[in-house]
Amino acid sequence: MSDTFFGHIIDGVEVESLDGGRFDVYNPWTQEVWAQAAEGGEADADRAIASARTAFDEGPWPRMGRVERARLIHRLADLMEERTDELATLDSTNMGKPLAQAKHDVARSADNFRFFADHQRDHVGSVFPMDSGHHTYSEFGPVGVVAAISPWNFPLMMATWKIAPAIAWGNTCIIKPSEDTPASVTLLGRLAVEAGFPPGVLNVLNGHGAPAGAALTGDDRVDRVTFTGSSTTGKAVMASASSHLAPVSLELGGKGANVVFDDADLDNAVHWAVEAIFRNSGQICLAGSRLFVQDGIYDEFMERFQAAAEALPIGDPFDPETKFSVLASKRHYDKVVGYVEGVEATGGTIRTGGVDGEGRWLVRPTIIEDLPLDAPAYREEIFGPVCVVNRFSTEDEVVHLANDTRYGLNAMLFTEGLSRAHRVSSRLKAGTVWVNCFFIRDLRTPFGGVGDSGVGREGGDFSREFFTEPKAVVMQIDRTSA
Ligand code: NAD
Repeated sequence: MSDTFFGHIIDGVEVESLDGGRFDVYNPWTQEVWAQAAEGGEADADRAIASARTAFDEGPWPRMGRVERARLIHRLADLMEERTDELATLDSTNMGKPLAQAKHDVARSADNFRFFADHQRDHVGSVFPMDSGHHTYSEFGPVGVVAAISPWNFPLMMATWKIAPAIAWGNTCIIKPSEDTPASVTLLGRLAVEAGFPPGVLNVLNGHGAPAGAALTGDDRVDRVTFTGSSTTGKAVMASASSHLAPVSLELGGKGANVVFDDADLDNAVHWAVEAIFRNSGQICLAGSRLFVQDGIYDEFMERFQAAAEALPIGDPFDPETKFSVLASKRHYDKVVGYVEGVEATGGTIRTGGVDGEGRWLVRPTIIEDLPLDAPAYREEIFGPVCVVNRFSTEDEVVHLANDTRYGLNAMLFTEGLSRAHRVSSRLKAGTVWVNCFFIRDLRTPFGGVGDSGVGREGGDFSREFFTEPKAVVMQIDRTSA
């Protein structure tokens, strides 16, 4: 085993846990331990919160001019771009993501910082002249200490969606990455120090959900909790934060519907159906895991979809040809295998794919048909490369099918009919609807989910709402009027 180690970044310094505890970090492609990370306990969480608290209450960050804060955040983005290969290599090693996709994630992560650095400069509040001799205006001040908790599927990118708006608005932050993927976020913490961030503005706390994550969410020195992960954990996070009434933003699981109408451009629909369920080996909250195909094109679409799924180059994440690789951990592999192995017993048919069976933590791109609507693989989030397909006849029928889920993160629809695209997208229960595309994100728009997919929205002004305390100031400017 190498001596690669990822510590906590607390108060601008990389440190071990106070009790010296460490945990192993795996490379899922080789199935070997390739690093260790600090195992955060309650005492380490306490140190990280104290650092963020002091940096907020006494440090320069919330008092700094917006231009200077933006300059430092852009400097961090510069460093991320300069170190793209290193950041991407960490994510690919740590969770098996093909390297080209990991590089794409780094670019989007750096852009998150650039976007929110500029957004906080431009969206400073509004002035409302009154006719009563008063003038009133709104301003958006920072809230304090933000606890951010992120998952393993986009280790760097998910963390930056939270950190970037939090710090841009003048807050200080503690990020706890997933215990499965501590590497790239720890490097991000090191880069923030190199960029010249004041100590305590961005702390990285490594460790497991409990005790490290739970110690953050339940602490009354934390003013906001932003969480991305499973719906089950999200409920625990919300309950914990409610102990001191800290507002929460929860980005949770999904079971996205992908609807392909008879009039769709089939090349385009097949391309995106493959991306939507097999990119990142299906480990995407936004995955198009329930595919609905209209009767008239069902057979042709399915032949082409199956051929494209079977043609995906599978292999080592560092091979440039690879588009599809292993699942991120043995624990997650076992979970996905459980669903796939249950398919036939619940009445479904595996059209292609299935468990690899070669000793790798790999489930091949899998397409399932004939599955009853109450089967676990149909109703629950698998978070793997498993697509459940149903046929439909009418628009009303497919809207009902698509909305028949506790989740509501996203949906896709493929049609060349403009009226149909408008009509159906407005009827779908989802935070995001993609028409004839997938995975495109403009950071100004709301992002989040309905039902078990989450609470709140992030992005642009929606992030400002969450990471600031809006204030109204009313000022008398003319004592002679009424
Ligand atoms: P998870 O809920 O197991 O863990 C997420 C994070 O929460 C990890 O950092 C974990 O250590 C921490 N955690 C666990 N228990 C905790 C507790 N009691 N208190 C505080 N923190 C705790 O999720 P995961 O397996 O890492 O990620 C996969 C899930 O994330 C899927 O359900 C996926 O859909 C979801 N996800 C959602 C989005 C979105 O934007 N909606 C994006 C990516 C992933």
